[in-house]
Amino acid sequence: MRGAIRLFTIFGISIYIHITFLILPILFFISAGVKGIFLVFFVFSCVIMHELFHSLTAMRFGIKVGAITLFPIGGVASIKSLPEKPRQEFLIALAGPTFNILLSIILFYPLYKILGGEVLFNPSLQTWRHTFAYAFWVNPTLAMFNLLPAFPMDGGRILRAFLAQRLGLRRATQIAVGIGHFFALSFGLIGIVYGHFLLVIIAIFIYVAASGEGIQVEIKEGTIDDISRGKIKDA
Ligand SMILES: [Zn+2]
Repeated sequence: MRGAIRLFTIFGISIYIHITFLILPILFFISAGVKGIFLVFFVFSCVIMHELFHSLTAMRFGIKVGAITLFPIGGVASIKSLPEKPRQEFLIALAGPTFNILLSIILFYPLYKILGGEVLFNPSLQTWRHTFAYAFWVNPTLAMFNLLPAFPMDGGRILRAFLAQRLGLRRATQIAVGIGHFFALSFGLIGIVYGHFLLVIIAIFIYVAASGEGIQVEIKEGTIDDISRGKIKDA
């Protein structure tokens, strides 16, 4: 991919970082010093693990994974083909958030003991203790956001896989794309009303990516038969 730097290869999957991602450590360093950089790299590691869980599950079903690329608003695992069976898509989609949920459960009690409830439930970048609390909330947030039942989030794939068994792939996709558009417009509206610029960008990303999922299935279903790669996108 253009503008992406290869970091390393694991399980035969190359991990790339998009050049725009480098804005994040700079921004966080300016606003919070070394604590900001720690947080960026923690998020970065969690997103890579999330994508690896998707990728390794896909590989178990014989689907080839090309690469994982990190963007400022999330990671993308490029897979060479779409899963054939809804059950496979369901398990592949579920694998990513499963990592975030597992890590949240593993980290909660030790951090609660070490930091205390007062700090753990008041995350900030003020002190290192508050920064570790901030880092804790990264995984529950990633899990919740990715499980929204709308394309292009994992929850949209889980919903599509569930509906596809009853309604067929095309109709199921249309519904998941429609819900994705609904979330995108809602986020966009909230972002504009409350002046959250980042939320507006995320809304645009979700809208475009949801549309892309719809087009991809239209291609797969017949009009153009030259689909060579699908994508698992995460916001
Ligand atoms: Zn995911």
